[in-house]
Amino acid sequence: MSINSVRPWRDIHRRQSRKIRVGPVEVGGDAPISVQTMTNTLTSDVAATIAHVQACAEAGADIVRVSCPDRDSTVALKEIVKAAEVPIVADIHFHYKRAIEAAEAGAACLRINPGNIGSAERVREVIKAARDHGCSIRIGVNAGSLEKHLLEKYGEPCPDAMVESGLEHMRILQDNDFHEFKISVKASDVFLAAAAYQQLAETCDAPIHLGITEAGGLLSGTVKSAIGLGNLLWMGIGDTIRVSLSADPVEEVKVGYEILKSLGLRHRGVTIISCPTCARQGFDVIRTVQELEERLVHIHTPISVSIIGCVVNGPGEALMTDIGFTGGGAGSGMVYLAGKQDHKMDNAGMVDHIVELVEKRAAEIEAANAASQAAE
Ligand code: SF4
Repeated sequence: MSINSVRPWRDIHRRQSRKIRVGPVEVGGDAPISVQTMTNTLTSDVAATIAHVQACAEAGADIVRVSCPDRDSTVALKEIVKAAEVPIVADIHFHYKRAIEAAEAGAACLRINPGNIGSAERVREVIKAARDHGCSIRIGVNAGSLEKHLLEKYGEPCPDAMVESGLEHMRILQDNDFHEFKISVKASDVFLAAAAYQQLAETCDAPIHLGITEAGGLLSGTVKSAIGLGNLLWMGIGDTIRVSLSADPVEEVKVGYEILKSLGLRHRGVTIISCPTCARQGFDVIRTVQELEERLVHIHTPISVSIIGCVVNGPGEALMTDIGFTGGGAGSGMVYLAGKQDHKMDNAGMVDHIVELVEKRAAEIEAANAASQAAE
């Protein structure tokens, strides 16, 4: 039995949404929930932005967004798109010309609210550019920047106002027979965001981009995002996610993946099950886990590893993981493979040994996957 085994009590029934594309990445329907982030380099600094996109992609980002506040940025975008191994979303606010330039530069998606573009003619021009260049659109409603007429109608940002804003933007696209869009209704308040997303999910079949906006620093923002996004994802809501942290965007990607991995919605890389440690630990669990996390970052194949300080919980956890180590006495512990006791190992050489075992197992899984794909 593996931690990834399917069990009825861990099933999440995803909301049925339409499927759209962000470049080669499918969003919605039965597509895997994608993880996004956003660069924070100056977009006009092509080399720095390409390096940043690459770092995010290596961390697992499926889609990366870049801001396009000026003409220099949309000029740079062309080079960035060409070099990027993941699709690029151009973040545009208000300026219709930037949106057209971004579509022409090869952006896979425009993050723009059609209601904020201006005249109907400008809207048509942007939609035409998106259509001509195979660009999808993300409508991004944010509680902090709701339209004046909705704030006047509702008195304050609330789920009704946010969803109404989203529906208004959506209608403009639909009236122009454009349906390649996804939508977000973000707020920094978890309750507000969750209520708005739930309401939105019942109102339309558009793919949903989830986010708790301006969630905070690495620790507080991670907790907030895990609560907000985690609950929505558990309800089956959400087709793509972005964790917003005041931290390196690479951290956003890692946190996004960990949220999805915790819910069994994506499986990527090594998942370490480890105990909180106490006086019974037979080796330094905390240091070992830190070392393994650093040394196994290059593994993308889903593998579970249990690192448990003693026999109280070690054998039980090892039963549910691909590779396990449980502390024993006299400077050594027991290695488990596929849930079964396999051999003893000295604590001193254990990290190197676990890394080798994981790399070997990853290579076996990848070879088996390649063989089954070749047979299809
Ligand atoms: Fe302590 Fe053992 Fe539990 Fe780890 S597994 S916290 S060492 S009792």
